[in-house]
Amino acid sequence: MIESVRDGVYVRTSHMQQLQSVMVIDDGGVYLFDPCYFDDEIREIRSFVAPYQHGRELNLILTHSDFDHIAGVPYFAPEYGVWGASTWDTDNEQRAAAKIELFDSQYYVNRPWHGVLNRIQFARHFADGESYQDVHFVHAKGHTNDGLVTIKNHVAVVGDYLSALEFPFIYTSYYDYCATLKGLRGVFVQHQVNLVIPQHGPYAEGSAEVERRFAIAEDYLAALETTVREGLQQGRAVDDVANVSAQVLTFDGQPLAKGITSFHKSNVRILWRELSPQHT
Ligand SMILES: [Zn+2]
Repeated sequence: MIESVRDGVYVRTSHMQQLQSVMVIDDGGVYLFDPCYFDDEIREIRSFVAPYQHGRELNLILTHSDFDHIAGVPYFAPEYGVWGASTWDTDNEQRAAAKIELFDSQYYVNRPWHGVLNRIQFARHFADGESYQDVHFVHAKGHTNDGLVTIKNHVAVVGDYLSALEFPFIYTSYYDYCATLKGLRGVFVQHQVNLVIPQHGPYAEGSAEVERRFAIAEDYLAALETTVREGLQQGRAVDDVANVSAQVLTFDGQPLAKGITSFHKSNVRILWRELSPQHT
């Protein structure tokens, strides 16, 4: 089901990890974000945007290169020009393509193609802080190295940050992740952002909810840092700290969801490495 969020802004929630595909339509263009994941879901998106395509610039924006965000690309490219961050991680894209192939073959997902996803051909790459027409782009690192936040008309599409469902998943760097959140606060004020659409779970409308998203992410990150620092000081084993903290840390006042504790354990290991004296 496609939900109208406000004039010209629509989202579709996938059965895959509540992934939010976003459609922004105005007089000049159709801006499609992370159309995913299952075949019928993507076809629904395609049917929805089809009547708007004539005479508009067609753009497909990828928030980052993780597998659940890129599986829809062949349904739209090259008719839609693909946009991504200038830091786009082709190694991660290749891992993601392999993961899509594995997932699809394991769960018998129908696609118009078989085998591995073709390498993505980009029409544009955007630098951190770059603007194009009335669209502003900011890089977001920490989850991956190639996160791209898009701001248009007071709406921010942010990828895997500021989710209400998912505590911060740090794949690259804790410090980058914290810096990204800090930077986004400033950018949101500057661009008077009042609607934030993360790619997993519900969007955040209004400054109070947006602020709450920052707060729950930052609370988790602060607890993670304290946990890892104490573990290092006490000379404990990293696996022990990861396992124990997975049982006691919370996100938004709730225990960490069982199915995603492996991501918390991975966060512990990444920060452990970043805080360890030998880390360079
Ligand atoms: Zn991701």
